[in-house]
Amino acid sequence: MTTRGKSRPAADLLALWHTLQRSGVLQCPVCGGALTVMDELFECVSCSSAFPVEDGVPMLTRPADMVSIPDHVMDVFKIPLVYKERVEAALATITKYRMPLYPEFSNFFARFEGRDVQMQPVPLSPEDTGAAIERVECLSCYFSKEMCSGETEFRSIRIRNASDRILFTDERNPLHLSYRVFTIRGELIPFEGNRSQLPCPLRPGAELTIPVMFGLPRGLTGQFIVRFYFLLEHVRWFDKCPVAEMIVTMTDRNEEFPATRRNSVQEFDVQEDVVRGDDFFSRVLSDLRSCGIPKPRILEIGAGVYPISLRACIGNGTVVVSDISLVMQRLASIVHADHPAVMEGRAAFASIDAMHPPFQAESFDIICMSAALHHIAFPDEFLKGLARMLSCHGRFVAVREPCLVNPFEPEYIVELANGFNEQMFELSEWREIITRGGLTLDRAVIDFGCSLKFSARLPHAPRQCI
Ligand SMILES: [Zn+2]
Repeated sequence: MTTRGKSRPAADLLALWHTLQRSGVLQCPVCGGALTVMDELFECVSCSSAFPVEDGVPMLTRPADMVSIPDHVMDVFKIPLVYKERVEAALATITKYRMPLYPEFSNFFARFEGRDVQMQPVPLSPEDTGAAIERVECLSCYFSKEMCSGETEFRSIRIRNASDRILFTDERNPLHLSYRVFTIRGELIPFEGNRSQLPCPLRPGAELTIPVMFGLPRGLTGQFIVRFYFLLEHVRWFDKCPVAEMIVTMTDRNEEFPATRRNSVQEFDVQEDVVRGDDFFSRVLSDLRSCGIPKPRILEIGAGVYPISLRACIGNGTVVVSDISLVMQRLASIVHADHPAVMEGRAAFASIDAMHPPFQAESFDIICMSAALHHIAFPDEFLKGLARMLSCHGRFVAVREPCLVNPFEPEYIVELANGFNEQMFELSEWREIITRGGLTLDRAVIDFGCSLKFSARLPHAPRQCI
């Protein structure tokens, strides 16, 4: 073995960053100023914000959004600053060893961080539930203005618990979301709305997207006011404070989502779905090639350790692989060290908060995500931010996004319990999200009836490039 692993990574991994800096693509995520790329850190020439580089992988998130764990630990245990290096070394051992026989020590930080995390949720009384619900805010939902009567679909309603109680009830009187329907003049239409459960306890200050089943009887067409309320089953509706209210036009025709459907009746096969996602991405690449963009500049978001952009044959293109997690990107840079694009300095890895991206407008020909977009709290706002970064022929590509909602799926509940922002959107919600995001659907495929792949472009971009 040679010394290859020692000196090569940093030099290679920063090559593309230097190219991007020369092309004027980089911008400070804090102030939008130009960034200077250096071996140990990237620095903003305007506001002097500094972004650390760890083993060739920069952390380009806003410094104010970061917490120094050693500083926090030293503060908690009142350790003098001179011991900082030893504290850092001590903390690194958390990831080095594990004792499965003593799981109580596996989460070191839980022992001195926010106590409410460990609080067992106790069911609230109807009075306390009512008081808490008055402080629940609706943050977003993706209701299309038109819906087909007689169809029942889920609609995602995102709420924040602005009360000081954990929103939770027991099984005898479950807390449900339901709705009432009114004419435009405000007359209640006698009709029992579907019930949807709060999928997990909601801590004070926490946000959650709830899939709420919605539908109106067939034949009920025209404009209606729909109001969503919480109710304690068998006890009362909290109808003084609707969670959400909207005007919906019910029609008797169902507008089909424009997608090619494959393997709809077969059981979901993850491996096959990954291959289908890669295929879809390659198709978009060859579209761009035939449009005269043989060397696309690609940004992947939420890439984890296995970026779809590095699996695809990108020709002479360049790829910025990113994720919010720095450790994932450091691992990705190690796992893919032998990839031709990495070896030739055409690939870079970074920790990026895509809500505050470190890139100028119109910087990328492709922005892609695999099984990640549905985790974003406000995907429409998020897409708006990405649309800004697309070149005029650019494509946004999302693959392997769930488009069949099932809030009873055990995996969904587990992910929520683990603190993931797990969400599922119906096709009509996806359409609404893409439109509100300022994009136009370009090509879409649905595999196994549940896995959506789509590409989208700026509305004014030519479909066929010149
Ligand atoms: Zn700055």
